[in-house]
Amino acid sequence: MKLYYSIKQKLIELIYSNIPRSGTILLFHEVDNDISNCIEYPRNWISRDSFTTLIEYIQKNAEIKPIGSVLTNMQRNNIIITFDDVYRNFYYNAYPLLKKYSIPFCLFVTVDRIDKEYYLTSEMIEDLTKEPLCTIGSHSITHKKLRFLKLVSIIDEINNSKAILEKKISKPVKYFAFPYGSYYAVSFKNIGCVKKAGYTAAFSTIYSDLNIFSKLNRYFLPRRNVNEDNYKEILEGLIL
Ligand SMILES: [Zn+2]
Repeated sequence: MKLYYSIKQKLIELIYSNIPRSGTILLFHEVDNDISNCIEYPRNWISRDSFTTLIEYIQKNAEIKPIGSVLTNMQRNNIIITFDDVYRNFYYNAYPLLKKYSIPFCLFVTVDRIDKEYYLTSEMIEDLTKEPLCTIGSHSITHKKLRFLKLVSIIDEINNSKAILEKKISKPVKYFAFPYGSYYAVSFKNIGCVKKAGYTAAFSTIYSDLNIFSKLNRYFLPRRNVNEDNYKEILEGLIL
């Protein structure tokens, strides 16, 4: 079954790669020069130096938009910055740079991981809640592959994560990022539940750009997962 869904995903990515893009959503996880601080090295890791190079390049050569723009007038060279899971190294290594350049960003927080080792603390979230550049979205409660859960648990992961985060930050939580975000991990039923829960849009890990179909497909939007190995390729792709 896994093979079927990974072929399906590759096919969709191939089709999308032949459609003109209307903006790109970048997905980051861990940002740190010291890999001993990182638990997702190497796939979901970028050094702080490379992150700085990439952000400064984008800042000069593209236009970075807040996540609220995702369904409205996104242009070819528009970029949206997102982080999943949200590690403490985001707060120390990425946030100061984003703040320096006034770059908007969205953090998809996994509720059960708040205050756990490596992840954002409640104090950090409280601080980020006051930050106008920051939007907080949900990345579920327990970070499981939603396809394989019973309906009652799916609804808990999607609806209650929204409710808990809204209570915590005293703001509406309008965006959801699926844990793992692949076709294998996410079913059509899961996508329907996110829509029903009242989210505005949801995000996958389909490795591609936004396109003319994105508005119709706003509960499974593609994002490019950035790491130390592919950031140069992504950077070069942004000017093509
Ligand atoms: Zn995740």
